Amino acid sequence: MEPVKTLEKRYVDYEEIIDIDTKLQLDYYVKRIQDKKIAMVNTTSFGGGVAEILHSLVPLSRDLGIRIDWWKIKGAKEFYAVTKAFHNCLQGEEGTFSPEAKKIYLEYNEMNAATIKDWDYDFIVVHDPQPAALINFRRDNDTTKWIWRCHIDTSTPDPESWRFLYQYIKHYDACIFTMPDFVKEYESLPNLTFFTPTIDPLSPKNIPLEKEEAQTITSRFGVDINRPLISQVSRFDPWKDPLGVIDVYKIVKKEFPSVQLALVGSMATDDPEGWDYLYRTLRKAGEDYDIKIVTEVNGISNLEVNAFQTISNVLIQKSIREGFGLTVAEGFWKETPVIGGNIGGIKYQIDDGVNGYLVETVEECAEKVLKLLRNPTLAEEMGKAGKEKVRKNFLITTNILNYLKLFDKLIEKESSLLSRIK
Ligand code: UDP
Repeated sequence: MEPVKTLEKRYVDYEEIIDIDTKLQLDYYVKRIQDKKIAMVNTTSFGGGVAEILHSLVPLSRDLGIRIDWWKIKGAKEFYAVTKAFHNCLQGEEGTFSPEAKKIYLEYNEMNAATIKDWDYDFIVVHDPQPAALINFRRDNDTTKWIWRCHIDTSTPDPESWRFLYQYIKHYDACIFTMPDFVKEYESLPNLTFFTPTIDPLSPKNIPLEKEEAQTITSRFGVDINRPLISQVSRFDPWKDPLGVIDVYKIVKKEFPSVQLALVGSMATDDPEGWDYLYRTLRKAGEDYDIKIVTEVNGISNLEVNAFQTISNVLIQKSIREGFGLTVAEGFWKETPVIGGNIGGIKYQIDDGVNGYLVETVEECAEKVLKLLRNPTLAEEMGKAGKEKVRKNFLITTNILNYLKLFDKLIEKESSLLSRIK
């Protein structure tokens, strides 16, 4: 196992952003677990949402006075090939986890567990299935509390893969999932808890941008800043329904000829399906130059995503299937109303009619876009409501607080158990 280094973060910078309840609770819980040591364990220090969250959560927790370290497990090609297949099977893709694959999985977990022998952590938080079997190799008489944090949707897993994983996770002291919809064996999991993912309000993707700066950035991609803009930020993937978004735009365009649409999407170079879907989207957009389809190939990075989310009159996240849907929280943070598919984590973020709308069809989506374009004051009010929802629920500081509350609960449970034994 290898320790992961992070840049420093200062809590004072966040103090002025977060809500007072979170701040007061953080003060309280930090004091309660001050003498405890925490380890976060995952597979990678870069790429993917987990690493992104830990790069904020770990240094910010340290600055709060929490004793926390981040470790990543060592692997090699064969291990990553096995864990990718395992991951996919757990998310419901067809396939099986062969005896050979299980052997490789366990060998790497055992190899990494050699490091644990000298650890003196009070809490070990293991992220996702890749290192889940580490618990099998813990010391005898270990008093450490082990917590498994699952970031994926395991609601309809391949049964054999789930059984294999379950034999490890049942030994943990607590399990954290993103939301109830993602959990298969609701009753049998130890101390089941739910935390949503969160955004870092001071990362380049979310830091406040002046309107003029956002306009300058988006105009580089051909956006006319004097005309209304609707956007969807997401991968080119059938589940994100970019083709449906173009249908929405076409309906809106009949009533609002000045409207523009931006589809802002990142491309993974190793994902051929993503490229195919991008080409389909480009074909559907055809010669309509008011549809801007842009990816990192055109220069889209965090700041550009920020600019599109800041400058759009309305954001759409018309997904058909979705995990949490971080783009919704990101959009709200820029005070932009979001219209989203009534599914997955989008349901937890959009309060229908308060900060945006939950929709089922293209027609309904178009109707709501039109409503917001015709009522800029309503759009502004909804955007503000969205930001407040994120401030209370979906900032990185709330994520830290959720961990602290769980640690505290586990300590309390143990001390009440001990006092009963005495
Ligand atoms: N994203 C990005 N550039 C893009 C498109 C998306 O950085 O061109 C980011 C987006 O801002 C969000 C993440 O990718 O942070 C997507 O997360 P989400 O939960 O919405 O969907 P996922 O892709 O994980 O299904």
